[in-house]
Amino acid sequence: MKQYRMFLIDLDGTIYRGKETIESGVNFVRRLQAKGLDYLFLTNNTTRTPEMVVNKLKGHGVVTDVNHIYTPCMATSSYILERKKTAKVYIIGQIGLFNELLSHPEISYDDQKPDFVVVGMDTDLTYHKIRTAVRHIRNGATFIGTNSDLNLPSGDELLPGNGSVCKMIEVASGVAPVYIGKPSNIIVDKVLQKFNREKSDCLIVGDNYLTDIAAGFNSGVDTLLTLTGVHSKADIAEKKQPSFVVNNLNEFEL
Ligand SMILES: [Mg+2]
Repeated sequence: MKQYRMFLIDLDGTIYRGKETIESGVNFVRRLQAKGLDYLFLTNNTTRTPEMVVNKLKGHGVVTDVNHIYTPCMATSSYILERKKTAKVYIIGQIGLFNELLSHPEISYDDQKPDFVVVGMDTDLTYHKIRTAVRHIRNGATFIGTNSDLNLPSGDELLPGNGSVCKMIEVASGVAPVYIGKPSNIIVDKVLQKFNREKSDCLIVGDNYLTDIAAGFNSGVDTLLTLTGVHSKADIAEKKQPSFVVNNLNEFEL
């Protein structure tokens, strides 16, 4: 079988399920590390800083560092700075998004006349924030959604995700956002650019057909679907097939 050199690995549903560890996922990362194969955790979560992700992974038995974490927050910074040397940005989001965007001296927070409105998951969302975002988008600011996930699975509940919030702003402003996270090709292109990797060397690994696997289709990168998370074989039976499908990641030989 083809030897992939860079594995872009999802977190929730792949390495853990909320607080529960997925042993086959953790074991997969250990096998990559033992073989000296390169990997990155490619998550759509924008609420945590890379340090927080590293800590969470440590709690599940994965030893890694911030250089192995890539989030839509990082891809968003890169997307913005590619378009403007210095940018004023109105942000809806949590610490992961604020910290990353404002770590760049060229990006500043502005709720008066921003160039960009960036919307990420915010559990302290208010009407006032939505109203401010809509006003700036109507006045010409570029609307960026960090990710389009409509729901977030949490136990037996499906929480409203960032995509649902972006939909509300889209309807109210009449402008659709540019989405950065999976399934957009943008986050994949940005991560490959940053780490200087060829698409043909990479494999996207995840449990969600609509985000992880679709990101592979949209960017031309091979995909490995693990059935340890949201989707089952029946869910994808009639659909375009991933490069590989496994019941769990122990089944995938490196
Ligand atoms: Mg997942």
